[in-house]
Amino acid sequence: MSASEQVIQLEKTDPKFVEEIIEYGSKIFGREHMETITACFQCGTCSGSCPSGRRTAYRTRLVMRKALLGLKDEVLSSEELWYCTTCYTCYERCPRGVRTTDIIRVIRNIAAKSGRMKEQHKRVARLLIRFGHAVPITDEFKEIRKALGLSELPPTVHSYPEALDEVRKLIKIMKFDQMVGYQESG
Ligand code: SF4
Ligand code: SF4
Repeated sequence: MSASEQVIQLEKTDPKFVEEIIEYGSKIFGREHMETITACFQCGTCSGSCPSGRRTAYRTRLVMRKALLGLKDEVLSSEELWYCTTCYTCYERCPRGVRTTDIIRVIRNIAAKSGRMKEQHKRVARLLIRFGHAVPITDEFKEIRKALGLSELPPTVHSYPEALDEVRKLIKIMKFDQMVGYQESG
C-alpha cells in the first residue's frame, strides 16, 4: 500500500466508532464490559487462539485494532467479521480481559442494522424463525435419540410449539424477520 493510500484511509476514519460500539453494546453487556476494547495492546493471543483464523483470513486482533483506529466502513463491510464462530476461546485467553467475542457480536449487530448481514447468516436466521433452531432436528437425529432412550424430540421448541409462537412474536416486534428476509410461506 502506498503512502498516499494510507493518507486516504486515515481521512476515512471515524473517531467516534469505538464509542459507538461501546454505547451500543452497553445496552446489552454494560459499559464496563464494552470499554475493555480500549485495553487491547495488540498481543495477538486472540488471533493465535482462534479456530476460525486457522482456516481463514480472519484475524481477531485486526478487528480490535481497526475498530480502535475508527476504520468503521472497513470493519463493518469486512467478510471476515462473519467468520467468528463465537467459541469464546479468545475471550477466555485475552491477557487484558478484552471481551472480544461480545465486542465482535456487537460490531456484527451494528453491521446488520446497516444492512450488511451476510446472506449465509440470514439463511440461518430464517431457519431459527421457521423451526426455533438454527440447526433443526432431522429424521436421522430423531432415530439416534430414540436409540439412546431419549424422547424423539428434544425438550425445546420442537416439543413446545407454543414457545415457538412466542419466539416469533418477539422476532416480529424487533423486525428481525424483515431484516433477514423471512416470509411465512417461503
Ligand atoms: S488477546 Fe486481547 S489484548 Fe491481545 S490482541 Fe487480542 S484483544 Fe488485544
Ligand atoms: S470467539 Fe470468534 S474470534 Fe474468538 S476465538 Fe472463537 S472464533 Fe475466534
